[in-house]
This record gives sequence, C-alpha cells and structure tokens, in this order.
Amino acid sequence: MHQQSVALITGANKGIGLAIANQLAARGLTVLVGSRNLARGQAAAATINGSAHAIQLDVTDQASIAAVAACVDRDFGRLDVLVNNAGIAHAGDPNLSLAEIVQSGRASVASLDAVRAVFGTNVFGVIAVTQAMLPLLRASPAGRIVNISSGRSSLALAADPAETRRRAMFGVTYSASKAALNAVTLAFAIDLAATRIKVNAVAPGFTVTDMNRGEGRRSVEEAAREPVRMALLDADGPTGGFFDDSGPVPW
Ligand code: NAP
Repeated sequence: MHQQSVALITGANKGIGLAIANQLAARGLTVLVGSRNLARGQAAAATINGSAHAIQLDVTDQASIAAVAACVDRDFGRLDVLVNNAGIAHAGDPNLSLAEIVQSGRASVASLDAVRAVFGTNVFGVIAVTQAMLPLLRASPAGRIVNISSGRSSLALAADPAETRRRAMFGVTYSASKAALNAVTLAFAIDLAATRIKVNAVAPGFTVTDMNRGEGRRSVEEAAREPVRMALLDADGPTGGFFDDSGPVPW
C-alpha cells in the first residue's frame, strides 16, 4: 500500500481544482489530478511541486469512473481524500459571457437539455464518483469527501428579498444544481455517519477562472484554502456541513 495519504481531485487540470491539488501536494499528500483529457491532466500534474499523477476521469462517464476506482486500488491501494471539484456553469456556447450564462439559467427560459447537462456533471457525476470511491475511502483511517459547491446555491440566502444581487443570479441550472449538490452532501454524511468518513460542502468564493470568463474577486490559491482545510480535517472535525472560509454557510 502507498505510504502517503492519497487524494483524488476531479477536474484538477486547471482552475480551483489544480490549486487544491497543488496545496494538498505541498502538505505531503500524493495527488491524483483528475482530468477528462489525459494530456491536459499530465501537463497540469507536471506543474505541481510534489507527488502528482494525472488520471483520466470524466465524471459523466461511468466506464471512466470505474476505471479510475480500479486503477487507484491497483496502483496505490488506498484513497483518503476525494474532492468533487469538476463542475460546469452552463451547457451552451463556450463563448457566452458571464452575464449571458446567468441569463440562460433563468427559470422561465432555461433549456431543459442544459439543465440536464449541468445536473449531469455537478450532481449525478458527484454521486457516481463518490459511490465508486467509497470502498477505498471506507478503508482509510481518515476518509474525507469535499464537494465544491457555491455561495450561489444557498436557498436560505436566495430566499431573502434583501439579497437582490444574489437573487438575480439564482436560476434553475447552475444554482439549482449546486443546491442539489448540497442535499447530496448531506445525504452522504447522514449515510456515512457511523463511519470515519467526513463529508462537507465548500463554497470557494467568486474566483478568477475560465468558468467566470476571468471575472472574480479571489485567486484560485485563496479559493483552494477552505477545501484543503476540509480535506485535512482531524477526527473531531464537522461532517454534513456547508462552509466557506468565514465559517458555516446557510443551506
Ligand atoms: P474551471 O476553471 O472551468 O474548471 C472546471 C474544471 O472541471 C475543469 O478542469 C474541467 O475540465 C472540469 N470538468 C468539467 N466537466 C467535467 C467532466 N464531465 N468530467 C471531469 N472534469 C470536468 O472552473 P473553476 O472555477 O475552477 O470551477 C471548479 C469548481 O468550483 C466547480 O465545481 C465550480 O462550480 C466551483 N465554483 C467556482 C466558483 C468561481 O467563482 N470560479 C465559485 C463557486 C464555485 P476541462 O478543462 O476538460 O473543461
């Protein structure tokens, strides 16, 4: 069995996922850089200072997920941390601006195909990857699952009429998919409550990445900090929670 703790980060070939992989490698973990395109994953893994290996993983492809579970078991014999980071904001034209993405997700106009595609990655992909990795995580002395959610998913905040900016961005594709991801996080935490595994959702904050077309208030390094903290929780840390780096976020 591999000596160091092993972490799998989905969608780690760029953005917040790559920053999470970087910071976990700096903490001495062996990181598996999940990437749906292996060459992009290999290029990203080569930039990481530490033990990093690219692994082909498309979270919407059950065969790819099963192959990763078998490969991690065969090559490392353990998995201690799973960061479900891979995500998409929309399923349309890749050149849409952030404002157009928000507009396309509005409840009255969103295409059902787009809603299905976004849920396919952000929700069903997380359930599928997590279920496939559970046998390995259960065997870990400190299994940790971190689901990368969004502040835009908070039902409690979006329900507040005073939150005008937040409400303007709350639609049925991305925001609803991350709200569903929060429910999935809680469901896994409840189901695994009797195990050593901790399951939490994290909002990384509005971050400069390709997803936001370069808009944002935070760097990927800042955005990665809270997910990394949740990945390395000790035995008395929380499970079944939703956090950003200021503390709990209202569901
Ligand atoms: P990003 O730079 O666009 O990165 C998204 C990553 O997910 C890419 O590596 C992408 O791979 C991967 N991905 C997409 N679909 C996939 C699939 N089917 N299988 C495997 N990987 C897939 O965006 P980011 O901002 O870093 O986003 C990372 C996470 O943070 C997402 O869950 C996002 O919702 C969340 N988040 C971001 C912000 C923000 O302000 N940026 C705020 C809140 C939450 P490709 O390179 O192959 O496309």
